[in-house]
Amino acid sequence: MYHISDLKKYIRCPRLFQLSFNEEGTSFNPYVRLDQEVTELARIKLNANNYFLGIVNDEPEKALNAMDNYEWIIKGRFEYKNLRVKVPFLHKNEDGWDLYFLFIGNYPHDDDILFYTSTLWVLINNNIKIKDISIIHLNSKYVREDKLDIDQLFVISKNFYNAKNNESNNIKQLIFKKMKDYSDTLNKMDIALNSKIYPSKKVKACTRFGKCKYYDTCFVEELDMEDNSILTLVSSQYKNEMYQEGIKYLKDVDLERLEGSRKQFAQIMADINGGLFFDKLALKTWLYKLKYPLSFLDFEWETYAIPPYQGMKTYDVLPFQYSLHILEDEKIIHKEFIGENDTRLNLLKSLLNDIPKTGSIIAYNGEAAEKIRIKELAKMFPEYSKPLMKIYSRIVDLQLPFDLGIVYDTRMKGHYSLKMIMSLLNDVGYSELEISQGMDAVFNWRSLDKLESKEEKEIVIENLKSYCAMDTYAMIVVYRWLKKLAE
Ligand code: SF4
Repeated sequence: MYHISDLKKYIRCPRLFQLSFNEEGTSFNPYVRLDQEVTELARIKLNANNYFLGIVNDEPEKALNAMDNYEWIIKGRFEYKNLRVKVPFLHKNEDGWDLYFLFIGNYPHDDDILFYTSTLWVLINNNIKIKDISIIHLNSKYVREDKLDIDQLFVISKNFYNAKNNESNNIKQLIFKKMKDYSDTLNKMDIALNSKIYPSKKVKACTRFGKCKYYDTCFVEELDMEDNSILTLVSSQYKNEMYQEGIKYLKDVDLERLEGSRKQFAQIMADINGGLFFDKLALKTWLYKLKYPLSFLDFEWETYAIPPYQGMKTYDVLPFQYSLHILEDEKIIHKEFIGENDTRLNLLKSLLNDIPKTGSIIAYNGEAAEKIRIKELAKMFPEYSKPLMKIYSRIVDLQLPFDLGIVYDTRMKGHYSLKMIMSLLNDVGYSELEISQGMDAVFNWRSLDKLESKEEKEIVIENLKSYCAMDTYAMIVVYRWLKKLAE
């Protein structure tokens, strides 16, 4: 039996389908927190009261038989030609059924069209007459009051949304138009499973939706890739092509096939220089703008699909921790905050108290993270908007010299996260910590609710503090390195 995820994998890459099909599923900790059972909330929104509820491993006949006796089929399992689908909601209409897909996001786009078309294909081939198709999704405009308003939380849409999140194609028309007969693909999937694993071949699908989980198995040779390999070239359409032709190093790049970004220039110059490139004048100019005392700031936060507290919207984030290292006259002071549950107000009050009133506030990737967090807090708590927006205006992004190709060391291999740079600078690093990744920090904070013993909670909190403090300490190390280069 196949699921739509298998069909998607096969279409992405037959080898990926082969490798993953018999693999044990690993437990998955979602990036976004979802405490409520969304299907149940959507059921209430749809006013579905007389319903059959399908469960895992149901025989497909079960949902089919239930169609005679119920007005609604929720999570019904249906199957055709070995392809099994789980259908969120079917509602009996006069002489057919209305189909509702459930999308736990604000804007369903048509990029997941295969999911919708293959579901429809299975239903039609079970002789189910589909009258109308809609998507029930989260309402981006809903702001939670004291209690969750389920009616406001969802929107029932007849249209997909485009890249700008404006309404676009009609859902029913597009799904019917794009639906294909998947029999041939399903037959080929059978053949693939009875064949030897296909050889790996570098295709766009290897990296298109993020790096494929089998990438390192498929291209083992790249694990030992040299620091100055052409394969480290960032945002390059042709690097694989050049590599296949025997152009192995950055310095030998074919200029005709170079996009020509500043980062690429820095990478090539670093290889020509023997490993390091920096634009001294640009670096000096950037450093010159920084004003003492320097406050190095880092937030950790949780993202909630459904707003858990007043004033929050769908997919809002809740900052629960910060670390602040203050550097003045080469003296370092450390301050920090961590809270549980709805800790927004306590966090912002503590921050306003801890952060120096003058000087630059430095955050790594601060444009895309800390600045946005501060702005969000200012919006949620307008009475603190003025001092928060002052902090906002003082934030300087430490990632900028790397983003702009002002500094590059070939040992970065195309990446310049704080962890990567710290590993080059031979300072005490993240590897010593119990929590060493941003998402681990979120999962650990998430686990605090479930821990009963005070001791266990304290250990998690200490680990979280160490991790966040390492981020701001790492920024000082990187800042000092940049300063040294400029001198
Ligand atoms: S890395 Fe590429 S070739 Fe290997 S399984 Fe993934 S998509 Fe297929």
